[in-house]
Amino acid sequence: LTILGLESSCDDTAAAVLRGQEILSSVVLGQNELHAAFGGVVPEIAARAHAEKLDLAIEQALVQAGVPVTELDAIAVTAGPGLIGGVLSGVMMAKGIAAATGKPLIGVNHLAGHALTPRLTDGLAFPYLMLLVSGGHCQFLIVRGPQDFKRLGGTIDDAPGEAFDKTARLLGLPQPGGPSVEEAATSGDEKRFRFPRPLLDREGCDLSFSGLKTALLRMRDKLIEEQGGLHRQDVADLCAGFQAAVRDVLAEKTRRALRVYLEENPGEPALAVAGGVAANTALRGALEALCEEHGVTFTAPPLRLCTDNAAMIAYAGGELLAAGEVSDMTLAARPRWPLDTAAAPLLGSGK
Ligand code: ATP
Ligand code: FE
Repeated sequence: LTILGLESSCDDTAAAVLRGQEILSSVVLGQNELHAAFGGVVPEIAARAHAEKLDLAIEQALVQAGVPVTELDAIAVTAGPGLIGGVLSGVMMAKGIAAATGKPLIGVNHLAGHALTPRLTDGLAFPYLMLLVSGGHCQFLIVRGPQDFKRLGGTIDDAPGEAFDKTARLLGLPQPGGPSVEEAATSGDEKRFRFPRPLLDREGCDLSFSGLKTALLRMRDKLIEEQGGLHRQDVADLCAGFQAAVRDVLAEKTRRALRVYLEENPGEPALAVAGGVAANTALRGALEALCEEHGVTFTAPPLRLCTDNAAMIAYAGGELLAAGEVSDMTLAARPRWPLDTAAAPLLGSGK
């Protein structure tokens, strides 16, 4: 099967063509330069850019794949959750193509796209434990099927990527913050500043990251007050301390999530990560060590498939299609769409 995937829920306009497990093309047109001056994604600007760039992304994806639109077997599109303007652009475009070609339309949950990615990249079998850590999300999911997710916990405030981005901003490092904080941390001493380890004293798998940012702000301001500014080494040490706190909290909560998952699924246990923060080497190292300790397989998709892309949407669409879960022209764009609630079925038929 040849499937066109579209993704426009945040600040990347993406289109991809997938044939079976093979990614024939995966185009991602970013918008960093449009939002840079505002220090964050501006929804109106994002919506307009998606509307303008979707055409181009789709054309590039089809040309690179060498697949004419008439050869597509289905159109999969992110129908939520995300910024409503962008999601709407994608859904309208997908409906147009589906109507023009007469091919099935499949509404995909963006989070399901991330959560199913290890199946595309590594053929991981159900069930597995997924840690989704990105710019907008942080949650533990037991992935049991293309529409069967059990949420074990997640952040109660910021997402870790957001915390990395804010940290970079507070320290005058470039965006996106994750890579620049990680880079600065390599020459830093993680023990010089004592960052908190939020929620470790609390039962369960919920996490919190907003306190780290507050702690960082206090440390930064104290240094500036004492010495009139920040030295290069201060920035490195602050980054190292911050990153170590995120790593430790995520590793400890993953340990707990693994315990819950292993009780239910003693078979061939597997942990997979997705989302942009999964690129972090310190975090990966901690998770790998944890998995080794518990005899659990560890899977981390390549970075370009960890961050937002349309290949994962096409893939998730293919799994839904195989399960007979096709949408129709009433497919609605949803700003909010939790993965595991019965009240919000995975398939976006607006009925
Ligand atoms: P979402 O996917 O939740 O809608 P998003 O599009 O912002 O949000 P992704 O594209 O998955 O998220 O990832 C981007 C985030 O990953 C950014 O916040 C970025 O700072 C973070 N990130 C990227 N590389 C690293 C790294 N090496 N270490 C830590 N964080 C990183
Ligand atoms: Fe995402």
